[in-house]
Amino acid sequence: MAVSATSAHPPASPLPPLGSRRGDPRAPMRPRPPGPGRWSDPVTALPGVGPTLARRLRSLGVEQVGQLLEHLPARYESFDAGARPVSALRAGEEATVRVVLDSIAVRPTRRRGLRIVSARVHDATGRMGATWFNQQHLARVLQPGDELLLRGRVGTGGRREIAVRSHEVLGGPGSEGLHTTGLVPVYPATEAMPVRRIRELIDLARPLARAAPERLPARVRHRLGLPGAADALVGVHFPRSRAEARLGRRRMVVEELVVLQLGLLAVRRAQSGTRAAPPLEATGERSGPLLAALPFRLTAPQRRAAREVGRDLARPVPMRRLLQGEVGSGKTLVAVLAICQAVEAGAQAAVLVPTETLAEQHLRTLDAVLAPAGLAPVLLTGRVTGAERERRLLALRSGTAPIAVGTQALLSEGVAFHRLGLVVVDEQHRFGVEQRQALAERAAAGGGGAAHLLYMTATPIPRTLALTAYGDLTVSTIRSRPPGRSPVETRWVREADRDEAYELVRAQLRAGRQAYVICPLVEEGAAAEARAATTEAERLREGPFADFRVGLLHGALSADAKRAAMVDFAEGRIDLLVATTVVEVGIDVPNATTILIEDADRFGLAQLHQLRGRVGRGEHAGTCILFGEPPTEDGARRLEAVTQTSDGFRLAELDLEIRGEGSILGLRQAGPTDLRFARLSRDRRELAEARWLARRALRDDPHLERPEHRLLRDAVLQRFDHFPRLLDA
Ligand code: ADP
Ligand code: MG
Repeated sequence: MAVSATSAHPPASPLPPLGSRRGDPRAPMRPRPPGPGRWSDPVTALPGVGPTLARRLRSLGVEQVGQLLEHLPARYESFDAGARPVSALRAGEEATVRVVLDSIAVRPTRRRGLRIVSARVHDATGRMGATWFNQQHLARVLQPGDELLLRGRVGTGGRREIAVRSHEVLGGPGSEGLHTTGLVPVYPATEAMPVRRIRELIDLARPLARAAPERLPARVRHRLGLPGAADALVGVHFPRSRAEARLGRRRMVVEELVVLQLGLLAVRRAQSGTRAAPPLEATGERSGPLLAALPFRLTAPQRRAAREVGRDLARPVPMRRLLQGEVGSGKTLVAVLAICQAVEAGAQAAVLVPTETLAEQHLRTLDAVLAPAGLAPVLLTGRVTGAERERRLLALRSGTAPIAVGTQALLSEGVAFHRLGLVVVDEQHRFGVEQRQALAERAAAGGGGAAHLLYMTATPIPRTLALTAYGDLTVSTIRSRPPGRSPVETRWVREADRDEAYELVRAQLRAGRQAYVICPLVEEGAAAEARAATTEAERLREGPFADFRVGLLHGALSADAKRAAMVDFAEGRIDLLVATTVVEVGIDVPNATTILIEDADRFGLAQLHQLRGRVGRGEHAGTCILFGEPPTEDGARRLEAVTQTSDGFRLAELDLEIRGEGSILGLRQAGPTDLRFARLSRDRRELAEARWLARRALRDDPHLERPEHRLLRDAVLQRFDHFPRLLDA
């Protein structure tokens, strides 16, 4: 959906003006006042809104009157209040005039595609010209005799003229001054639903703000100094001052976050309160020898995380913990210690990873680390079949195999555990709260009682985001990497220096190292991405890297082909691996020292950081080369940032500021933790307040049964509709 939030040149709309009658654009356009309406009425309940308009509103996610009023401005344009007389205008200034239209016509210009609507207007003090760019329809809609408010810049040429930025017809749809006076809201708009039309519709729906449900108890509003729901809406859409607009918005943000936090805290309560988990006491029997065999000491953050996990496991309440730490920060060891603890207490552990290939890789790592503890994990993927599969299933069922590694299929119905005590989920950031719940339920079904869950992610998550997207989890963070890792130098290389960059890569390859080339993200999806990667591999194979072995890895390959490519690369049969972001997660090839990222500005900062974590994993220092010609200042700033800091948390904060929450999580589908009003990079205070309010509300009224909580309860259940019994007693 193309969304623009500019009112400077709203796209021409083929729609007749609001409130007009078909075929007669000159019919009286003053809308009749809406009758008593309801918040949940369809938009067609508004006068002048028919099926066509309703369809176009749907493209903005608006179907009901209430949703229309919850379509908030992205920003405001500030126009001064009063109109000025024509005779008093000064060249070059921005001003509003109130005039009568004398004539209007479309004028072609020499520039192709550009058309100007040119008009003559007057008021009691004088005459002047007025021009609009690319809005031919106005020549049909506006007619001599119309009284207009025009806002724009007064020309500096000889003739007195105004380049119109915004106009409105007096006596036309909407309140006077809607588009031209005071603080004028600029809404996210689409081609079919331009910002002026949205303004008119919201103006029309204004009386219905009174029907907004008041979800925040009066006590809460007073305590935080927040306006009521109706006043907040009026303040946001028709502000008399910026302060009023801010306050209105703040109230909506608090309400949204309160609903979210109530839901998340209730999910957490439901998961930890209802079912007991086996308390897993550590004996040190397995972890002792394992730690003794390590060639290094745990870092302080590793020890702290391990302590936190260990404490959770020993409690009879199911653990729901997120362990976050960058690639290479040593999360695996924390998980391994948890696994030891589970086994020491006589329980089994399952390790879930996103793909079968990663499962195999993990198995090798775990096998090596766990050997001193006398433990050997079994692999269970779709590739393990026949008698061997049966044998492994039996071992899990009887409990002779203490540890299983595999994809989520490990928790499918066909797999039974003797006593599953711990589930470790790696790379969990692709999950939403519903998937976590489903997983928890399957884990519980897989072996009596509820299992403890440890989620691990290598995407650094800013605290604000952790409190929303992962508000149902407790978070442990490993902030620093183990000592002695090679640094990764990141350079942003301009197109002109591409050959030089290739030469740098060739030098590495000649020295026996390996490299990645990451192809750009392609909007049209995985298939197009695969095609682009294939083409790029061809180009490099025939051109700059003709002397080397070039491999290809993308998401559209079969699982076997993917595995073959990765194994070939890992075992050094490929020098240069051309890949899409499928390498983002988990590939570990210490001999790879260079990663070259095409169109780097299309990636999120967190993702770039993740990608460069693929190199510098061995004894050799890594280099990350970013190609990209970002079209915006912002884009350039972001690439600069990646070259300048290696702190993944700092980058994640920046990413949050620049791109918003969804992109960091990589969650595409809408879920209950998506935010409509709040922006986490901005609304930290509101988040803290909401968390606090939600805690208190659930403490005082665990099922939100009190009358003042009734509407909040409804809102929580509506938002968390995967959890219908969330607030049941
Ligand atoms: P993550 O899973 O967080 O990406 P790993 O657990 O795979 O990171 O650890 C990355 C590498 O660092 C592994 O080779 C591991 O053996 C090593 N490592 C882990 N902890 C330490 C430590 N405390 N000191 C030195 N090396 C460590
Ligand atoms: Mg790992």
